[in-house]
Amino acid sequence: METKDKELLRGGQFLVKETKCEDVFTPEDFSEEQKMMKEAVMEFNEREIIAHKARFEAKDYALTEEVMRKAGELGFLGVAVPEAYGGLDMGFVSTLLVCDYISSGTGSFSTAFGAHTGIGTMPITLYGTEEQKQKYVPKLATGEWFGAYCLTEPGAGSDANSGKTTATLSEDGKSYKINGQKMWISNAGFCRLMIVFARIENDKNITGFIVEYDKDNPNGITLGEEEHKLGIRASSTRQVFFNDTVVPVENMLAGRGEGFKIAMNALNVGRIKLAGACLDSQRRILTTAVQYANERKQFNTPIADFGAIKYKLAEMAASAYAGESATYRAAKNIEDRIALRQAAGNSHQEAELKGVEEYAIECSILKVAVSEDVQNCADEGIQIFGGMGFSEETPMEAAWRDARITRIYEGTNEINRMLSVGMLVKKAMKGHVDLLGPAQAVQEELMGIPSFDTPDYSELFAEEKEMVAKLKKVFLMVAGAAVQKFGPDLEEHQQLLIAASDILIEIYMAESAILRTEKNAKRFGEEAQAVQIAMAKLYLYNAVSIVEKNGKESIISFAEGDEQRMLLMGLKRFVKYTNYPDIVDLRIAIAEKVKAENKYCF
Ligand SMILES: Cc1cc2nc3c(=O)[nH]c(=O)nc-3n(C[C@H](O)[C@H](O)[C@H](O)COP(=O)(O)OP(=O)(O)OC[C@H]3O[C@@H](n4cnc5c(N)ncnc54)[C@H](O)[C@@H]3O)c2cc1C
Repeated sequence: METKDKELLRGGQFLVKETKCEDVFTPEDFSEEQKMMKEAVMEFNEREIIAHKARFEAKDYALTEEVMRKAGELGFLGVAVPEAYGGLDMGFVSTLLVCDYISSGTGSFSTAFGAHTGIGTMPITLYGTEEQKQKYVPKLATGEWFGAYCLTEPGAGSDANSGKTTATLSEDGKSYKINGQKMWISNAGFCRLMIVFARIENDKNITGFIVEYDKDNPNGITLGEEEHKLGIRASSTRQVFFNDTVVPVENMLAGRGEGFKIAMNALNVGRIKLAGACLDSQRRILTTAVQYANERKQFNTPIADFGAIKYKLAEMAASAYAGESATYRAAKNIEDRIALRQAAGNSHQEAELKGVEEYAIECSILKVAVSEDVQNCADEGIQIFGGMGFSEETPMEAAWRDARITRIYEGTNEINRMLSVGMLVKKAMKGHVDLLGPAQAVQEELMGIPSFDTPDYSELFAEEKEMVAKLKKVFLMVAGAAVQKFGPDLEEHQQLLIAASDILIEIYMAESAILRTEKNAKRFGEEAQAVQIAMAKLYLYNAVSIVEKNGKESIISFAEGDEQRMLLMGLKRFVKYTNYPDIVDLRIAIAEKVKAENKYCF
């Protein structure tokens, strides 16, 4: 266990420590049990969701509830829940896997599923007392009750701790009365339990409560009408009004003023699960697109044979592949961290809480990256379908609309971008991740004379891994110089933070794709992984461009004169390939494979 502890990087350390390919978990490492689970979930998705797609698009809210209930009967709602509370306790990777493969049929079900199993249930499993867990979690794990999460208010969105909902202690000290208005509450229309955040007196931080909601005995709770939304049309989204809603004191979650912490930690889990929930949508969009492209002929040619379409198919495949690689890599890190903590004597609850918190940076990175990839993928999907893509009669239109929300909820992508860098800087200050040492080393390297030796790139990914190491140097160089310049005021320079975050995101995603492929090439052979190798190289090439653009903009904005020149020279050195990959050939190879298989096949 001790050695494993040493190998297991802490959250954010991927930036400054090398990860060996043997140490990453990949989708090719699924156990037999996980593969069976995947099959079962895919079959459920086809039968219960895809087959009724039109009803979801027609705002059939009752169908969402019905399918959720069926998911509960099959145990899918309790995958992450400990057995003691009626769940399957299958571990974090399996939780992600279920979330991934159940979510692609429609964003409506995916949102209901995510809101219930994540933010609707996790606050109790992570923070509840034994009594609270015994009383509520089995009902939630089996789908007897559904959960909703009431944080957002009309005046409190991204600034979640600023809510005006109040909780007032009764004179006898036995209950709280909740008053206020919540907004955008997923599952509100059919939930039986709400996690509600409210402020007690003038507390700095909000407090979390478990609130039962029985329609026959509403206890001061009323719901607004269903919101009419761009996408996820059969996901119930309503306002919730609390008017002297009485909640027994024993239903307070954690302690008074602990609500903000609960909200943030529940969101960490929600973020990586949201990334998981976008993966199979991406695969499905690509599969649908390539099937159409293989059949649709223009100029007597299947459009899939046109270079312009091959470009899109290849880019879509590479981004889906990188998304899978990074999501499952982080999921396993979380699972291992939880196991380590349990082995060290932490309770399941404490271990899970700290395990996820440790990788909050990666959770934010994944949320942003995968939500934007699925949106781009759906957008290109529409383009491949041409005019038909714009029609409600083909699946692309709904996929595009459904994808759009993923950039907004679970913390907007702007907030998550800034969080990822902010949390990294905080970890560095706490001494959990040593950024200073490596940043100084980069500075010294910049002053020195570059090596003119001819490097040996004969091994697979030798140059690509060196490139990832150089991209890390770009982050350290740019972020290090910005921290020196602005100190704690850096948080006022949001454009810089966002640029730094884009660099960080690309590093994590590209590295994950490379490590997964390297691991698989070692065990299955390079020939068998030829297309995966092409995808990893293509992803990295795109990542380098993004890093270069963001690095350049940042340097120009905060450095002048000699410093600017030195940093720009460093940037140029760090984004330079010795042997540029032939990106056009890589795209052709990827597209030909996808075309031949007529689906996303990795
Ligand atoms: C369909 C749907 C379902 C939802 N489900 C739930 C749910 O179940 N429970 C729940 O509690 N909430 C839910 N939400 C709410 C969701 O989490 C919020 O919409 C989201 O957090 C953003 O808050 P907001 O809408 O108030 O936007 P705002 O916070 O007003 O943000 C508007 C814009 O300003 C940007 N911005 C805000 N603050 C900053 C800043 N400091 N720096 C830079 N940019 C900033 C944002 O990134 C965004 O681009 C849901 C929303 C939708 C649309």
